[in-house]
Amino acid sequence: MCPFSFEELKSIDRDQLGDWVPLELYRAIRLIGMYQGLPMKGKGTTVTVGKIIGESLPVESIEEALKMFKDLKIGIPTLLEQRENALRVKVDDCFCKGLQHKKGHMVCDLEGAILAGAVSKVLDKKASSKEIKCNVNGDGYCEYEVLIPR
Ligand SMILES: [Zn+2]
Repeated sequence: MCPFSFEELKSIDRDQLGDWVPLELYRAIRLIGMYQGLPMKGKGTTVTVGKIIGESLPVESIEEALKMFKDLKIGIPTLLEQRENALRVKVDDCFCKGLQHKKGHMVCDLEGAILAGAVSKVLDKKASSKEIKCNVNGDGYCEYEVLIPR
């Protein structure tokens, strides 16, 4: 069994540095460590890691999952479309916003996988995510499709 629960991660007791780390550290882990550092730009790893993080979030509805996505400051999600077997979610202010555009690079697969993991937990069904748009690709915002096969 995993020794850490999401709830437990909130136990923070740092007198001097508090509970924040800078966004560039998150970006370093994501984009240098995972996107550049892992084979296949981390695909496979991000799916596994995102799914298990998403499933560990204390959420019980799609709305709560979207709210958590914002509370964790990954980005501000808007549900654009909800069908029986897919959700389309636009993300404003994504962690990648402001990075230089690099055509052909979509870098927010982990974040989509976290959302898919949370959706999977809420619906008790398998879910996966596909990145459709990304700031880094020059799209103006990030967007995912969360696929929920029957
Ligand atoms: Zn993004």
